[in-house]
Amino acid sequence: LIDSLKSIVGPKGFLDGDDIDTRYTNDVMGTPGGTPILVVRPSDTDEVSKVLAACHEAGQPVSTRGGNTGLVQGGIPDAGEVVLSLERMTKIEEFDVQGGTMTVQAGAILQTVQETAEEKNLTFPLDLGARGSCTIGGNISTNAGGNRVIRYGMTRNLVLGIEAVMADGTVINGLHKLVKNNSGYDLKHLFIGSEGTLGVVTRAVLKLSPLTNGQSVALCGLKDFNSVVSLLGHMKGALGPSLSAFEVMWQNYYEVAFKLMPGGAKPPFETPFPFYVLVESQGKDNDKDREAMEEALGEAFESQIIENAVIAKSDAEIAENWKIRDLSAEVGASMRPGFTYDISLPVEEMETCFAELKAELTEKWPDHSLVIFGHLGDGNVHVFIKDGTDTPDKGAISECIYRLTGQHQGSISAEHGIGLQKRDYLHHSRTPEEIALMKALKNTMDPKNILNPGRIFESPVNKT
Ligand SMILES: Cc1cc2nc3c(=O)[nH]c(=O)nc-3n(C[C@H](O)[C@H](O)[C@H](O)COP(=O)(O)OP(=O)(O)OC[C@H]3O[C@@H](n4cnc5c(N)ncnc54)[C@H](O)[C@@H]3O)c2cc1C
Repeated sequence: LIDSLKSIVGPKGFLDGDDIDTRYTNDVMGTPGGTPILVVRPSDTDEVSKVLAACHEAGQPVSTRGGNTGLVQGGIPDAGEVVLSLERMTKIEEFDVQGGTMTVQAGAILQTVQETAEEKNLTFPLDLGARGSCTIGGNISTNAGGNRVIRYGMTRNLVLGIEAVMADGTVINGLHKLVKNNSGYDLKHLFIGSEGTLGVVTRAVLKLSPLTNGQSVALCGLKDFNSVVSLLGHMKGALGPSLSAFEVMWQNYYEVAFKLMPGGAKPPFETPFPFYVLVESQGKDNDKDREAMEEALGEAFESQIIENAVIAKSDAEIAENWKIRDLSAEVGASMRPGFTYDISLPVEEMETCFAELKAELTEKWPDHSLVIFGHLGDGNVHVFIKDGTDTPDKGAISECIYRLTGQHQGSISAEHGIGLQKRDYLHHSRTPEEIALMKALKNTMDPKNILNPGRIFESPVNKT
């Protein structure tokens, strides 16, 4: 099998033995995987198809790898797997400026796609901190969310067509450019968000939007969570579709993040607030956007929804306001050995859920620290928990937060996926019938269970 895979991809297309370094075994957080028997780096769809056909024939498990920025250990290989890396499939194949679409190979880097679109006054609005390394194939396979979901939706909303290779090597060419296409099942959705367990995404048609040149950003201080919810409703009504971000920081996040701001930044407010909200609008013109933001926040102040607000007056101030929200990775690192959680909750359940979480943490781990922030506009919050002991019990803390999330009709994974990391907790968000249907799909599309086996749920068939 190894010889045959090597001959399919040619000398530039594989790594073996000592040439396989940690780039192909560990994840972005340094979590180690097992040693693969071979890394293949196909250069086109045909090679991917032949590689998978050979692996299928031999019952050989395959671990697919994009930019390796996934956060749930879905892309780290088990010992003995073949790693299939899309790193040589980075071409932008077609840019239809008129139609507002771009057709790319799955290994194209998100930032390259963004920059290419902007050269023609268009935007691919998916945006996340890992933009410089993550790939379109990875974004599609994890249905990535990010900063602008409130306005443009998740990756699922930004993809018109997909080409994917099934486990047995069959190529499903669904590279459609149509917005309306109800001719039977919309098969692209089988591959979006299925974390490489149902097929390998090889190419995609991306939907572009007009580039917005204007941007206005404000930081608001609020007295309680009800005010945060009221502000969200108010800003949606006042700014309409130009509302592009609504990021909430609980005081516990804001205080830790502010201390980490580079260059001794001055606090924008004289007094602290229980909640901080970063609101962003993106329109056609900076001045008009700022006026609309001022008017909307003026009304919110009159109605006592917000206590105070500062509106950024320059690009530097916009960057500074975003900086505090973008320091999340550093805040997480400062809380080690702690754990980070990416969950979704209905907005009306959040306050009660977090009060119950706080009470349970206090009872079990009196010295714990809890930090909460997130994209509240789409119900997604990130939670950092450090239990304050010398022997942190990740399993017990995870069970606690995921159980409460399930009880409050939330999702244990808002945007990062399940991978290996959340596999044991899937039942908190999905019914037994839903999980059974997922397994039935997996069995149909990958009967020998060779694609990312064991990720998302226990393997439905025995590993070969
Ligand atoms: C600093 C930072 C910030 C982040 N911010 C966000 C955020 O705001 N929102 C968000 O949603 N995520 C975020 N992430 C997580 C991550 O960036 C996304 O999940 C991203 O979409 C993964 O893309 P990737 O190319 O790195 O995929 P990888 O990490 O390589 O793979 C992720 C999963 O997809 C599978 N996969 C990869 N490529 C393919 C393919 N072509 N076909 C089939 N399966 C494939 C892999 O097997 C694996 O299961 C962040 C990560 C970091 C490090």
